[in-house]
Amino acid sequence: MTAMRKCAIITGASRGIGAGIAEKLASENWNLALCARQKVEDGSKLALALQEKYGIEAEYFQCDISDGEARRRCVTDIIARFDEIGALVNNAGVAPKVRADILEMTEESFDFVMNINLRGSFFFTQLVARKMAEQKSGTIVNISSCSATVASVSRGEYCMSKAGVSMATKLWAVRMAEFGVNVFEIRPGVIETDMTSVVKGKYDKLISEGLTLQPRWGYPEDIAKVTASLLRGDFAYSTGQVINIDGGMNIEKL
Ligand code: NAP
Repeated sequence: MTAMRKCAIITGASRGIGAGIAEKLASENWNLALCARQKVEDGSKLALALQEKYGIEAEYFQCDISDGEARRRCVTDIIARFDEIGALVNNAGVAPKVRADILEMTEESFDFVMNINLRGSFFFTQLVARKMAEQKSGTIVNISSCSATVASVSRGEYCMSKAGVSMATKLWAVRMAEFGVNVFEIRPGVIETDMTSVVKGKYDKLISEGLTLQPRWGYPEDIAKVTASLLRGDFAYSTGQVINIDGGMNIEKL
């Protein structure tokens, strides 16, 4: 009989940081529930590729996390498919469609970003947290951003959403401690993905001028390695903590 493997749920697993986390966790023998908005045919290809490469069980669940009905269906389906939910990685997130100064920001853009990054991830967590409370086990990792504390007036809605994710991390850490569920926040700096492809030139220049202490872009693998370590239990006595993965960018210098 093969030992039962726990399942990790990753939102926003179709590309970028989420896909990097999926690959790393698969290599560490986690079964995976991959969530994103892309079509089932495309998501399923990714799940199948990981399954074949690593001999794990992986399944794709199409879900727009800003849609309450879709969230409930998704989490119900995942629980029906996998017995035990070992981990939730809240990674799905968006930047504003248009970078607009906060004097010009529209309510539509505010709602779009907040509904995915904060409301969506919070209520997705709530559904999974209820199951983890029942199990009395699990780990939750929230991918926030350096924007949780650094003010960028051309994408204020993003900053506010990530500051909210930071507080949600503390709230869930407090609430879930009695169930033995640890909750962490990973705060990435500048990571090379689709999200940052529109500002590649700007950040190439800033990095070459010393924005980060380590003079390079971050990669999805940088985030994936730390996520795997957290889920392995290496930080078992540190619930509620923030881990900056930003090449030392957060250090204030004179
Ligand atoms: P990305 O390349 O744009 O990927 C975003 C992922 O989220 C995709 O898999 C996307 O898949 C999914 N997604 C977007 N909206 C969704 C929704 N409503 N429901 C479900 N899935 C959704 O971005 P990334 O750079 O990998 O970012 C991942 C996370 O890291 C985000 O939370 C982002 O804010 C954070 N972050 C990124 C950076 C950076 O420099 N890249 C820095 C700090 C923090 P579909 O389009 O198929 O839905």
